[in-house]
Amino acid sequence: MISLTLAEIAGITGGRVVGDPSVLVTGDVEYDSRKIGPGGLFLAFAGEKADGHDFAAAAVERGAAAVLGSRDTGVPGVVVADPLAAVADLARAVVARLHDLTVIGLTGSSGKTTTKDYIGQLLSRLGPTVALPGSLNNELGFPYTVLRASEKTAFLVLEMGARGVGHIRYLTEIARPSIGVVLNIGAAHIGEFGSKEGTALAKGELVEALPESGVAVLNADDPLVAAMAPRTSARVVLVGSTGSLTAADVTLDAAGRASYTISDGTRSGTVRLRTAGEHQVANTLAAGAVALAAGMEFDDLVTALGEVGIASERRMDVYTRPDGVTVVDDSYNANPSSTSAALRALAAMGGGKRTTAVLGFMAELGEHEVSGHAEVGRLAAELGVDRLIAVTGSAGPILDGAAGVAGWRGTGLLAEDQAAAIEILRHDLRADDVVLVKGSRYRTWDVADWLRRPEE
Ligand code: ATP
Ligand code: MG
Repeated sequence: MISLTLAEIAGITGGRVVGDPSVLVTGDVEYDSRKIGPGGLFLAFAGEKADGHDFAAAAVERGAAAVLGSRDTGVPGVVVADPLAAVADLARAVVARLHDLTVIGLTGSSGKTTTKDYIGQLLSRLGPTVALPGSLNNELGFPYTVLRASEKTAFLVLEMGARGVGHIRYLTEIARPSIGVVLNIGAAHIGEFGSKEGTALAKGELVEALPESGVAVLNADDPLVAAMAPRTSARVVLVGSTGSLTAADVTLDAAGRASYTISDGTRSGTVRLRTAGEHQVANTLAAGAVALAAGMEFDDLVTALGEVGIASERRMDVYTRPDGVTVVDDSYNANPSSTSAALRALAAMGGGKRTTAVLGFMAELGEHEVSGHAEVGRLAAELGVDRLIAVTGSAGPILDGAAGVAGWRGTGLLAEDQAAAIEILRHDLRADDVVLVKGSRYRTWDVADWLRRPEE
């Protein structure tokens, strides 16, 4: 963060200083007192389970310069009515002071965190870049990330999530991107939007906020995303199988990693990705378009795309255990489109090996809940996945979908919970197994953790 005095912080947030107004905050903002560093600003939120104000003194002991909260805790700080709004105010003020900063925003239903990691790694080659690992995309994570920017930051990469209409607009009013990316409109969180069109309406707020001098990177292969072009006054860069930055001749190797020919219309090159899954083609292409817009040379991009990886955990993390079992840990989150992409990668990695998909419940599908699960099961069977383990009864329709595929010779098993799925795996894992683990949020994390450290 840029250094600010308590007097400045109070001025920006409309708060009241506790202690010496000239106290200087020089470190980062944290809402977890265990993470606070020297000179940092500790954000105290009064949550339902815990009250951050109770940790104010501990944060100061760990080196925090001050606390921003909704009541006086007796330590130096600023008291505001609404700490969440205050963080947004601070972030807005910081961005306003950083004149040489290029802000990149990205949204979509799947792949935001993955692509944010790619963009961060690409832009780091051009200048000091802030792109935090993890999925910091809401009204707290977004300004929290913004506040990592300082005078020396050239690029600030921001993931933007939307749970409803107006959410992304709110985020763009905190830090207005000049480069915006919309990856895809899938069925994610469809329950809250009612339809894919509703989701598109909300996600498109990103391109509406771009300035005329900006760049909108849109997925040419997703009709609802491509249709956002008229909603922006920025220059539109379509990416995909058609458009101004294209991928062609996509192949997957035995490790599920894609290679493709990238072309900007005049130049082309071969990209060999390090991360697994065909969906990484669209993600890296979008990231590549951002890098080109930020000034990277085309040839440098071709090389760099072959070197980027995913810094955030539980996303297409492929590793082989000492006993020979290959694990595809894609357990962070799931929806039908991301699960389809992961299943395709699993199938590509099969090649004579036995493939197992441990699939948990996919949340937020609303009325598409049963059909979404069945569709995924059907695809798994069509791809010839050898074993399907559905975790919990609510994921059961996956098995029904698979069973409906004529000629599928695989096995479908229902595990009533994660412990039961672990028991199934414990008893019959073989050295030639490839195991995919995927489900919404925590629903398959125990299985993924057990596969990583079976002795525990
Ligand atoms: P969230 O809404 O939880 O923040 P996100 O949009 O940040 O999700 P990631 O965390 O990058 O997405 O990935 C979530 C899951 O979607 C992972 O399993 C990942 O492999 C898969 N995924 C990534 N990119 C795509 C894509 N372009 N299409 C479909 N699935 C994808
Ligand atoms: Mg995310």
